[in-house]
Amino acid sequence: MEASEQEVSLENHAVCNSAPDPAAEAYLNFMKKHQCYDAIPTSCKLVVFDTTLPVKKAFFALVANGLRAAPLWDSKLQKFVGMLTITDFINILHCYYKSPMVQIYELEEHKIETWRDVFLQYHDRSLISITPQASLFDAVYSLLKHKIHRLPVIDPESGNVLHILTHKRILKFLYIFGASYPKPCFLQKKVQDAGVGTFRDIATVQQTATVYDALSIFVERRVSALPVVDEDGKVVALYSRFDVINLAAQKTYNNLSMTMQEAVRRRRCFVEGVIKCYPDENLETIINRIVEAEVHRLVLVDRDNVVCGIISLSDLLQAIVLSPAGIDALVL
Ligand code: ADP
Ligand code: ADP
Ligand code: AMP
Repeated sequence: MEASEQEVSLENHAVCNSAPDPAAEAYLNFMKKHQCYDAIPTSCKLVVFDTTLPVKKAFFALVANGLRAAPLWDSKLQKFVGMLTITDFINILHCYYKSPMVQIYELEEHKIETWRDVFLQYHDRSLISITPQASLFDAVYSLLKHKIHRLPVIDPESGNVLHILTHKRILKFLYIFGASYPKPCFLQKKVQDAGVGTFRDIATVQQTATVYDALSIFVERRVSALPVVDEDGKVVALYSRFDVINLAAQKTYNNLSMTMQEAVRRRRCFVEGVIKCYPDENLETIINRIVEAEVHRLVLVDRDNVVCGIISLSDLLQAIVLSPAGIDALVL
């Protein structure tokens, strides 16, 4: 990451009893002044799929390369037309799965373009991208407005994809290069008072439910992860959309009757336990924890470990970047 750190010369403390908060303003300016280009790593792996590639090969290629998404190239149109993400894998499994005894013909045989023809009948979705010169503020706006997690940065001159920006990368950029700035006052607020996150109607999955049940919740609720709970509502694990790619890695996608307990036990997971937070913790603590753990969300629990909310990077970027600019989550 490269950034000019001399642009804002505020003293490193915020005057927390005055409104509007100059520190929040400085954070906003930071996001408006820095370009997407600034947040792009000097080197990274990027895989592009031609839309004539079979879907199964494409998901296996994501696994083999340790990637979560790839831009789709249409060689007839000679342009990028969309993205292939783990959500697409989930949609295909959920749409065509019948039983452990029946192979998923569509997953075995369809090309990416065949799947897109089916999917795009119901979902109007052209490629959402951004230029390297656009601001990080614009990148956050686009990710949150379109409710996507992958934003390709495309060079308008060459037409090449330079990188795929995510909430994680953007918040980490702000975390590292905004560290010398005064902290906005609202970061001292407790979770329960700040209203940052989702606290009602949390989508969870029982550990005795099947993987197919979890996929149905992903499809119907469009959430990015499910706390796995026991019969008392206590969180025992977290199953995110990302974890579904393990079904491809382990070639177990034909057995979606497996229980969540089993799926969680079998997955290759780099995160130990559940990364949680508590209602009396402040937002600064939450941000430190989520950035350090490199996860997309924390599970909010009470002192009995019962799930009472989700605080995701979307919620934090909304609070830090869009709300101070007067852009309300409800308006998006
Ligand atoms: P995931 O969280 O699994 O990486 P997303 O939430 O980003 O996936 O994707 C949701 C849906 O939106 C998928 O069908 C995916 O192909 C599509 N999608 C993701 N990013 C883009 C984009 N930049 N432009 C168009 N479609 C996208
Ligand atoms: P992505 O980088 O695609 O957004 P996620 O953060 O959703 O990925 O997930 C990456 C890995 O981290 C997955 O194995 C997921 O189960 C795990 N993970 C994500 N959030 C948490 C959490 N709060 N507690 C425990 N594990 C988590
Ligand atoms: P995300 O897709 O994680 O970026 O989050 C988008 C929105 O969905 C945020 O407001 C989250 O708080 C919310 N959210 C994420 N996961 C869940 C869940 N399991 N149940 C309810 N809301 C969720």
